[in-house]
Amino acid sequence: MSTTTQHHRIVVAGGGPGGLSIAARLAAHGLEVALIEPSSRHVYQPFWTLAGAGIVDHELSIRPMADMIPGGVKWLKTSVTGVQPELNQLQTEDGQTLSYDFLVVALGLQIDWHKIPGLPERLGQQGVCSIYDFSGSEQTWELIRNFKGGHAVFTFPPPPIKCAGAPQKILYLAEEYFRKADVRDTTQVSYFCATPTIFSVKKYADALMRQCVEPRGIEAHFNWRLKSIDADNCQALFENSESGEEKRVDYDLLHVVPPMSAPDVIKNSELSNAEGWVDVDKATLRHKRFDNVFAIGDCAGLPTSKTAAAIRAQSPVLAANLLAAVSGQAPTATYDGYTACPLVTGYGKAILAEFDYELQPQETFPFDQSKESLLLYLLKRFVLPQLYWRALIKGRRWPWSKVGT
Ligand SMILES: Cc1cc2nc3c(=O)[nH]c(=O)nc-3n(C[C@H](O)[C@H](O)[C@H](O)COP(=O)(O)OP(=O)(O)OC[C@H]3O[C@@H](n4cnc5c(N)ncnc54)[C@H](O)[C@@H]3O)c2cc1C
Repeated sequence: MSTTTQHHRIVVAGGGPGGLSIAARLAAHGLEVALIEPSSRHVYQPFWTLAGAGIVDHELSIRPMADMIPGGVKWLKTSVTGVQPELNQLQTEDGQTLSYDFLVVALGLQIDWHKIPGLPERLGQQGVCSIYDFSGSEQTWELIRNFKGGHAVFTFPPPPIKCAGAPQKILYLAEEYFRKADVRDTTQVSYFCATPTIFSVKKYADALMRQCVEPRGIEAHFNWRLKSIDADNCQALFENSESGEEKRVDYDLLHVVPPMSAPDVIKNSELSNAEGWVDVDKATLRHKRFDNVFAIGDCAGLPTSKTAAAIRAQSPVLAANLLAAVSGQAPTATYDGYTACPLVTGYGKAILAEFDYELQPQETFPFDQSKESLLLYLLKRFVLPQLYWRALIKGRRWPWSKVGT
């Protein structure tokens, strides 16, 4: 039976980059903050793409959570199991009911591996892999490195997903690796994408088709979603979203990007919108019905691409609006949907997509970021990880205005 044991001025639910950055900002203003996070490790997920291609060791993506908790923030090492925003309270796995004055929901999203029959039991074996998981990133590199030719199939599920560029990054890196390993001539590389185009912003979609897909002989199939896997026969079943047609595809390597959705704990609460995400105002990040609730990051129902880079732009807005609410003011800071994706297009090459709610490019640098460049690759490989650890999750100001992580 649960008991009310604690009341907190601010509760932050989730200790990913969203939760940590906002907890740090609020604690720096002298507010009493409790952070609910069950995991003893924090993961820098953008490294999983590079780990999947052998560029970094996947262990580098991990740091102890205890070292990440901002000074002055109380860490409650448990999970949120239920939320009743109408009562300003939530339940945790260790059997407590906590009450709050303000709640920031930063629970990320859930990966629905089970929605692809045949996938969960075969992940990491017999040619099936995914970088959307810590150990999966290492298994992906293992399979790419040992690939001896045949049909390499890469998938992209119906959005929203986190980092919509990652499924392509691993595709381009693998294709280049097959050339380096002298197996490209005997390899067919296919990309089955559930969306009608390769990227949501036309400028970057055109650049990717022109610089990567067409010249490298990658066979791109649009509007096809992975439905199930018959791993015993190395066959993947795809469905066309327009015609409903189904197609069985033989594979020797299958890189799966699984479907994703809002965490069940949000879906099962009054916090959610019709799709299950936290129902926040897209400008202020404040809940549309519960004035003392805000959301940040992947769990927020915002019509923009879910990235850590987006959190970089959301965090100061949310902090300003929550601080206003604490002192009884209306929220005035606004988020324009800024998000970014450093699209690694090969070993030593990347483009940097940056855009807003209107899908208009919002580029940082004074050159065309849709052109593959070594500089953008070095930014992704070396600079952005440092900024993530040193600035983003510590709630510090970004050294320049608009760049992703
Ligand atoms: C392969 C890959 C590549 C990526 N590449 C990039 C990139 O290049 N650039 C970029 O900007 N972004 C990238 N991303 C996306 C980025 O990592 C996410 O958008 C970001 O981590 C979202 O942060 P978050 O805090 O919203 O959620 P998360 O990072 O998922 O954190 C959520 C936290 O909530 C905790 N939690 C979950 N359930 C509960 C519960 N019930 N109670 C309490 N706590 C709970 C979790 O343990 C976790 O710590 C990539 C992601 C992947 C998977």
